[in-house]
Amino acid sequence: MANSIAKGLLLSAAIMLLAACNDANTRPQIDIEGKTMGTFYSVKVSGTITESKQQLQQEIDALLEQANDDISTYRPDSVLSRFNQNPSADPQPIPRGMADIILTAQRIGRDTGGAMDITVGPLVNLWGFGPDKRVVKVPSQQQIEAARSQIGLQHLKLLSDNRGEWLQKDLPGMYVDLSTLGEGYGVDQLVQLMARKGITNYLVSVGGAVSSRGVNGQNQPWRVAIQKPTDRENAVQALVDLQGYGISTAGSYRNYFEQDGQRYSHVIDPVTGRPITHKLVSATVIAPTALEADGWDTGLMVLGTEKALKLAEEKGLAVYLITKTDDGFSAVMTPQFKAFLVK
Ligand code: FAD
Repeated sequence: MANSIAKGLLLSAAIMLLAACNDANTRPQIDIEGKTMGTFYSVKVSGTITESKQQLQQEIDALLEQANDDISTYRPDSVLSRFNQNPSADPQPIPRGMADIILTAQRIGRDTGGAMDITVGPLVNLWGFGPDKRVVKVPSQQQIEAARSQIGLQHLKLLSDNRGEWLQKDLPGMYVDLSTLGEGYGVDQLVQLMARKGITNYLVSVGGAVSSRGVNGQNQPWRVAIQKPTDRENAVQALVDLQGYGISTAGSYRNYFEQDGQRYSHVIDPVTGRPITHKLVSATVIAPTALEADGWDTGLMVLGTEKALKLAEEKGLAVYLITKTDDGFSAVMTPQFKAFLVK
């Protein structure tokens, strides 16, 4: 049985940042890059800033480190990992930022009828897409049912009192996985840092989540490209100007494993307990925050083209869906998404 793992984690972004060429810049532009959350981040700022590039990078790294310490399931001592390891049904204290993520996740979870479900962790791990990085093979139906018995948003409660925020579970084996939202959260943290510093011309990204505002070093609006859904990089499908909004793409074509000629994506349908099998290959969402966009893209990805489009229309979401057809790919977008397209 041949198993090949093709997890393009470091290149999971289906979105490209189109940078200004430094030679022709009319305003100073600072480009900062680094690693976080098992992927890369990028911060581009145009115009004059009051501190050095090194100082700004230190502040960025500190913010993203804090996010990892709070919500990474790849760090055994993060707040989230300690919550997952503790079988107790007692409320456990969590930081404010993590509570914000869970609140958003609960809402999008409800709105997608459970398609986006942050308690899906036992299934993600079972299928080999979690931190364990085991060599993957298709699990048995019995294993899938056992993992499914440990999931469900109704088993997770977010509590708040004058001492702070608390998270509570009533399933001892529950494993909360915030991987699908972490990049968007990271981007929003960077956007807030820019706001605190009075920086109004920036483009920030963490993995496949991006936000931008204002203009680049060439005095042109920042442009973000949605990639074509292939294993190859740098083929542009569409170009957008985010105007201060966040964008995120979920796709089934970059992070998967193959067994017996069949591809198994890292996006899991909580209803079947299995990776999605329909023909929707990517869902891109633009929303007021990158966290919101990052949550919706996975939920829509689970639903498949028809249900995703119907829900996006009902909710007035800015959504771009790419679907595999017999002779290639077809794309469909909502009118709200069209408003961001660069002509
Ligand atoms: P998205 O489409 O945004 O999300 C897919 C992921 O969401 C799946 O991989 C799964 O984890 C989860 N998921 C699947 N189905 C569902 C569903 N129905 N509902 C909800 N969630 C679902 N990776 C590393 O290799 N090393 C690291 O050190 C590392 N650290 C990380 C730290 C943090 C704080 C975070 C948030 C992630 C980290 N990752 C790490 C994971 C990785 O970089 C990506 O975030 C992850 O693979 C998902 O991002 P994506 O954009 O590829 O997929």
